[in-house]
Amino acid sequence: MIIINSKEVGFSYDNEQEVIKNITFTAMNDEFVSIIGPSGCGKSTFLRIAAGLIKSSRGGVFYKEKKVEKPSREISFVFQDFALLPWLTNIENVKIGYSMLKITEQEKNKHAAELLKSFGLEGFEYTYPNMLSGGMKQRVGIARALASEPEVLLMDEPFSALDELTANTLRYDVLEQLKNKKRSVKSVIMVTHNVEEAVELSDKIVVLSGKPSKVLSIEEINMKRPRSRRDPIFLDTVDKIYKILSTPQ
Ligand code: ADP
Repeated sequence: MIIINSKEVGFSYDNEQEVIKNITFTAMNDEFVSIIGPSGCGKSTFLRIAAGLIKSSRGGVFYKEKKVEKPSREISFVFQDFALLPWLTNIENVKIGYSMLKITEQEKNKHAAELLKSFGLEGFEYTYPNMLSGGMKQRVGIARALASEPEVLLMDEPFSALDELTANTLRYDVLEQLKNKKRSVKSVIMVTHNVEEAVELSDKIVVLSGKPSKVLSIEEINMKRPRSRRDPIFLDTVDKIYKILSTPQ
């Protein structure tokens, strides 16, 4: 079943040069899709279109056949820089994720505490983000994104602000959360510039050209998980993607 269908998305900022020429791909049920491409090619812009924060100039992103035109609780966003509000406690930051749901304060508290616990943050509910390490902050960011029980999780370079060891642990935690059938998430779309990370996590990789971006290739990754970065098939796949990215267009 197709969850997200990006149909010939094109985009230019007002009177500016074209940023996205054509991004077309699908994200299926249970699929983890990465979008990879050179810096400045419009990856973050595309995610903002998919989140309904800005409108495409051509084509559109469809969530279950309905064009995404405004933010909704079914599609959540995880930011590269965590985007936590420093004046709110961690649990209050997670509770922002419920703003589109009509549930009681008591239910929000209970559910948010459970989410924080599932990300290993029990005991940190009533402390503030500045008391947390980068990895812990991103756990709060992901917990907040999951609060509205979204079907689609959009992640903009979610691990790139973290050191490699922390990023590695968090990647596995995120995969586990997402494969957990109790969770609502059906598709993940992650923007990254890290080829190894994309191959490690994804079922499908959408490779973009430089600005104005178009899809150069869609690679299906069928390796079993957990994936070893030393596996020859892994290394071949990484090489193949680097080659696509570095071939002059
Ligand atoms: P990426 O995520 O692939 O690095 P972005 O989507 O952030 O790329 O940016 C794509 C291009 O659009 C860049 O050239 C950037 O300078 C330009 N851009 C980003 N935001 C704006 C904006 N608000 N107004 C005008 N140009 C922008």
